[in-house]
Amino acid sequence: PPRKLAAGNWKMNGTLASLAEVETLMHDCAGAGVDILICPPATLLRLMAERVSAGAVAVGGQDCHAKESGAHTGDISAEQLRDAGASYVIVGHSERRADHGETDAAVAAKAVAAHRAGISSVICVGETEAQRDANETLDVIARQLAGSVPDCATAANTVIAYEPVWAIGTGRTPTNDQIAEVHAAMREALVARFADGAKFRLLYGGSVKPANAAEIFAIAHVDGALVGGASLKAADFTPIVRALD
Ligand code: 13P
Repeated sequence: PPRKLAAGNWKMNGTLASLAEVETLMHDCAGAGVDILICPPATLLRLMAERVSAGAVAVGGQDCHAKESGAHTGDISAEQLRDAGASYVIVGHSERRADHGETDAAVAAKAVAAHRAGISSVICVGETEAQRDANETLDVIARQLAGSVPDCATAANTVIAYEPVWAIGTGRTPTNDQIAEVHAAMREALVARFADGAKFRLLYGGSVKPANAAEIFAIAHVDGALVGGASLKAADFTPIVRALD
């Protein structure tokens, strides 16, 4: 089975003072047999990368532009993320899809950019509440996977995160059966398309917290989590990391 990954997405949270949380996290999670990733805001990326000891915690971006450089005010390229110490980048988060109109094709181009720069992509997919209510969940996930995961994806350079939009920041989570159904479908789609599809890490994201982590991590084809709110404090993220260990 793939090595587990506990990933934290800080979103638009965190200032210099927050770097202390990563130091605490590193200390408290020492010896854990899982990969740990924190994706801070771009303002903290370089400093965080300098503070974490190599191998203990990986650092990643939350988005990248598809191009390597150029006249794109406010954007950051995958090459720049790598230069700042990132080894991963989240692409296609539902907040980017919603707030910035990112299409599946745009997300795929960002994932290609990440791989071109030599960093791994964490490609996010997930249905809205209306889509789930209309029984479209598996169709939506299949379409997003087909359109957002580029042909150059491998288990080594790509992680898939299933984040139901209605579970993000709401305290609501799908049932275990609902998570199991989507993760099994994602595994099947990846195995059908990629030679190493069985080895891609599949994360669940959406209101993961210390109290529900162990239960979610026991579900088949859940290889870790993408955590928002509960990744901001070491005291919350450490028990999630330990639940994966
Ligand atoms: P929460 O853990 O805050 O629900 O956020 C999930 C998420 O969107 C991670 O990318």
